[in-house]
Amino acid sequence: MSETSDLYQEVILDHNKHPRNFQRLEDASHRAEGFNPLCGDRVTVYLQMEGDVMRRVSFEGSGCAISKASASMMTEALTGRTRRQAETLFEGFHALVTGSGADSASAGDLGKLVVFSGVRDYPVRVKCATLAWHTLRAAMEKQDAVASTE
Ligand code: ZN
Repeated sequence: MSETSDLYQEVILDHNKHPRNFQRLEDASHRAEGFNPLCGDRVTVYLQMEGDVMRRVSFEGSGCAISKASASMMTEALTGRTRRQAETLFEGFHALVTGSGADSASAGDLGKLVVFSGVRDYPVRVKCATLAWHTLRAAMEKQDAVASTE
């Protein structure tokens, strides 16, 4: 492993061990649950929207290190963002972890989320990394259903 991927792994392990915004939001305006049957990851995403802005984003759940770290870093990346910015970030993140083309253009906006670029080498892990994001999208759409990566 290169030094870079060691560093990336450290960030992921840190977020897995000490997840940020890991709590139920009692006054959430939106929430959704997600499940990744391939790995057994479960997540509930809470959103407190003020107009179009995400004032607070939090999550609860259990799963592998990738899914938990991804959810944790997502909540940090999205707090204070608009719905539209969140969609753009998700698109960039999805391109990053699947290695599908034009991720270099949006990589600058992804900030720390680029630590997940190594996931593209492990297709099974892509669903772990994107579960929280799929669930966030379901929450934004106010789908009162369980989001699944399948
Ligand atoms: Zn997983």
